[in-house]
Amino acid sequence: MKKAAFKHKEEMAEETAIETLERELDFTHGTAVAYVRARGRCEYCGCDLIMSRQGYAIAEIDHLLPKSEFQSLPDELNFVLSCRPCNGVKRGRSVLRPNETAVKMLTDHRSKLIERVREDIAEQMKQYNKNWRRVTEVLHEVWWMSRQLPNK
Ligand SMILES: [Zn+2]
Repeated sequence: MKKAAFKHKEEMAEETAIETLERELDFTHGTAVAYVRARGRCEYCGCDLIMSRQGYAIAEIDHLLPKSEFQSLPDELNFVLSCRPCNGVKRGRSVLRPNETAVKMLTDHRSKLIERVREDIAEQMKQYNKNWRRVTEVLHEVWWMSRQLPNK
C-alpha cells in the first residue's frame, strides 16, 4: 500500500518534469519522455549525461528500433536517451526478432530490447577498447620518460 502511493508520487514528478521540459525548453514530447525515463543517463552504458556540461554535450536521442524500418512508432515509445559513443556504435541495427511485434516489445519488454543493444554495443566496442588501452599505455610511457629525464 505504501509502495503504491510512493509510485504514484514518482509518476506525478515525472509528468511534471516532462511538461516543464516541453514548455520551457521546447523539447518534443518524445525527447522529454526519453530524458525523464532515463533520469539523464545513457540507457545503454549508464554514463551520466546531465551532471556535467561535457556529458550534456554528448547526449543524443536514439531510435531503439531504427527509424528507417519503423517510421510509424510513437516517439515516446521508441526514443532512447543515449550518449554519442553508444549511438555511434549502434547505428541503424535492429534488435527486433522476426516473431516479435514492435509496439508490444517496446511497451512490455523494453528492457529486453535495451539489453540486446547493450550486448551488441559491448561486442562492437571490443576493438575500440583495445585501442584505447594501448593509447593510454603509449602516452603513459611518454609521461613516465619525461619525469625520468633531467630538464635541459
Ligand atoms: Zn552510452
